[in-house]
Amino acid sequence: MFGVWAPGEEVSRLTYFGLYALQHRGQEAAGIATSDGEKILVYKDTGLVSQVFDDQALSSLTGHIAVGHTRYATQGGRAWQNAQPTLGPTATGTVALAHNGNLTNTRELMRLVHDRTGEDLSADLGKGSSTDTSVITHLIGTEPPSDGGLRDAAMAVLPRLRGAFSLSFMSETTLYAARDPQGIRPLVLGRLDSGWAVASETAALDIVGATFVREVNPGELLMIDEDGVRSERFAEANPKGCIFEYVYLARPDTTIAGRPVNASRTEMGRVLAREHPVDADLVIPTPESGTPAAIGYAQASGIPFGQGLVKNAYVGRTFIQPTQTIRQLGIRLKLNPMREVIAGKRLVVVDDSIVRGNTQRALVRMLREAGAKEVHVRISSPPVQWPCFYGIDFATRAELIANGMSVEEIRESLNADSLGYISLDGMVEATAIDSDRLCTACFSGTYPVPHEIPELTEVSR
Ligand code: SF4
Repeated sequence: MFGVWAPGEEVSRLTYFGLYALQHRGQEAAGIATSDGEKILVYKDTGLVSQVFDDQALSSLTGHIAVGHTRYATQGGRAWQNAQPTLGPTATGTVALAHNGNLTNTRELMRLVHDRTGEDLSADLGKGSSTDTSVITHLIGTEPPSDGGLRDAAMAVLPRLRGAFSLSFMSETTLYAARDPQGIRPLVLGRLDSGWAVASETAALDIVGATFVREVNPGELLMIDEDGVRSERFAEANPKGCIFEYVYLARPDTTIAGRPVNASRTEMGRVLAREHPVDADLVIPTPESGTPAAIGYAQASGIPFGQGLVKNAYVGRTFIQPTQTIRQLGIRLKLNPMREVIAGKRLVVVDDSIVRGNTQRALVRMLREAGAKEVHVRISSPPVQWPCFYGIDFATRAELIANGMSVEEIRESLNADSLGYISLDGMVEATAIDSDRLCTACFSGTYPVPHEIPELTEVSR
């Protein structure tokens, strides 16, 4: 998610580059809305940022305010209609809204929309053409008119939302940014020469030449226009940042809550080496997200680090690809072993996580076929045992390899010589963030915000 308020700048192009830097957060659809102070235009489609926008499309998006989004589906289908920003009428104009995260009280909010308008949004959800994001847009749109315009509507709606929501939205005249009281997903404010930018990650600010100012605080609403940046609080902050951002999701060159992601990942590798040492010849990463942890493992263990796998950078992240068939194909397409580096070696292969186990199983097979003598798998996060309701599509518990299988059974299923996961305490320690300011639910089962489908987390072992 990326937003910009900058008179005199080509805001659609700034947003395009901001989204380009955030492509890893969603690869199914992309969109940009702009406003010239009087009317809002939106252009969006399914596909990567570079596929959705060409020069002509960007040139047609004129104005000095923009909101952009890249999507991967956690609620609603992958239909074009679900691409963001969503656009909707309000009592005082129009709202264009982009959302990173996942609400946990969507049904309750849909009932509220139904009470207000008679519209049944859950019917659309069943057809795969509605999302929690469109529910927010509907709620804002059904707030009564007031002098404060979109600001008043937002201050009425935001306290009703539960779960993870980092939002960037705009009226014809003002850019807004808001973050849920837990601050589960990141959101930052940056300064441009001629204005302001908000982005999901600090790396996107770097790429457009914006200077990091600060994080949008949990429970805070920012309003940005010619009067500068104004801040209001809609809820008490109770920070529970997603630890998986540090493990896998965020770019390594991003900083969250003051802690560089790359430093956390390298430290996770060092901790892993202390917790699960092994006699081996070479440490190799599963590129790219396993690389910092593999460097840390090599540093702490004294085993040389090497690149044993080449990644095709143009193939999407495997667990983000939504269907099983595409995921399977993706694994074969994206990694190729370097025989001369690994043949005859006892390898430590460091990866950031095991979700379904498909990647690692294919990987161990490939490495053995390429001549590896031993393959020891080391994982810089604990077993993923519970689903995420806050915007990461781990799918159901049944699909998680660590659900109902011991570490030894997983090792056997991967055909690895040994398998070691970092401990929960070790992973938390590596982030250098207080454990009570983090969400670790997919590893620990402790959910910081209640969700609507408790049967999905009932322990079935
Ligand atoms: S459940 Fe896991 S992935 Fe989801 S927000 Fe919490 S730590 Fe992040």
